[in-house]
Amino acid sequence: MNETETLLKVENLRTTFETEEGVEITPVNGVSFEIDQGETLGIVGESGSGKSVTALSILKLIEDNGTVTADSLEFQGEDLLSKSEKDLRQIRGGDISMIFQDPMSSLNPVITVGEQIAEVARHHGNLDESSGFWSEMKRKYVSGTEVTAPSWRRAVELLEIVGIPEPEKRAKDYPHQLSGGMKQRVMIAQALAGDPSLIIADEPTTALDVTIEAQILNELRDLQSEFGVSIIFITHDLAVIREICDRVVVLYASEVMEKASTEDIFSTPRHPYTEGLLKSIPKVTEDRERLDVVEGNVPGLVDRPPGCPFSARCEYAFEMCEEPLESHNVEDEWTVRCHLYHDDVNADVKNGLPSTETKSQHRETINADQRKQ
Ligand code: SF4
Repeated sequence: MNETETLLKVENLRTTFETEEGVEITPVNGVSFEIDQGETLGIVGESGSGKSVTALSILKLIEDNGTVTADSLEFQGEDLLSKSEKDLRQIRGGDISMIFQDPMSSLNPVITVGEQIAEVARHHGNLDESSGFWSEMKRKYVSGTEVTAPSWRRAVELLEIVGIPEPEKRAKDYPHQLSGGMKQRVMIAQALAGDPSLIIADEPTTALDVTIEAQILNELRDLQSEFGVSIIFITHDLAVIREICDRVVVLYASEVMEKASTEDIFSTPRHPYTEGLLKSIPKVTEDRERLDVVEGNVPGLVDRPPGCPFSARCEYAFEMCEEPLESHNVEDEWTVRCHLYHDDVNADVKNGLPSTETKSQHRETINADQRKQ
């Protein structure tokens, strides 16, 4: 595979669940993006926007009452949707691995961290080491992996790669004996143990303080250049996106609102929601008492407004915003899902995001209509 070949192609991904009351909800609705070999793609949005369910849907790690469909869900040219559960188990933790948000609840508290990394290396790392059920049980709960075994040596090596001091000693520790930053490094080592082509990192720095967060981000960047692995980085923090990502997908209420290069998004955001997110980032150069906020909350999954889901919070909303949304290509590889970019909308409006006065009346009308429903 050459440097620019598409590694993962997601087209019109849709995940639905049926609630106990029989209501269908759609936490992922028509999400599309691609990621190339060696690239870092950021998926950003508030809580409840569908970021984590998107990641879990790619690996079909969805509960039984959920359904995942897509026009295309291809990894290395192969259709993931048609794979059997057995094949998917080989891909999960192998070609595609995940780093979860909270290492304390993701790591097994009664098994040493070395054992947990060694297990992944044994199953996915081509080490030619026995991995049958009973030998796994014996290793886990009775004797542990021998320190001379290839998988244990790989675990120690990976702990060293992710910057854990005294890796031989630390490999024998249990998760509670490590700090938060170290546990997150263990999660990264575990993700690397299967020699993945793609790592999905779901808010991997949320539980960490800013100093450790910076160290972990540096670590991920270094590992990416060393191993050429692609990363999907899920976060609610645009500042983190700016640090680490080549391109960004902005999710809101289960839909992709804007998709562009990190540079373009930060220099000239086109979608009102992206603009609001960027304005809410504190700047050390500004002396102000209050930060800008995007007023209101993401609409719930069962009470989505007709038309644009952002309309109740958008200061540019106008009549057309009650109609179904479409994505518009504003430039090459830059799409925006907003009626301001519709061909029927006057060019002054399209280019005039800062001017909002005339739109605010329409916004009030829309809000009043929605309250009546
Ligand atoms: Fe949505 Fe309309 Fe605002 Fe665009 S202008 S984000 S379509 S409410």
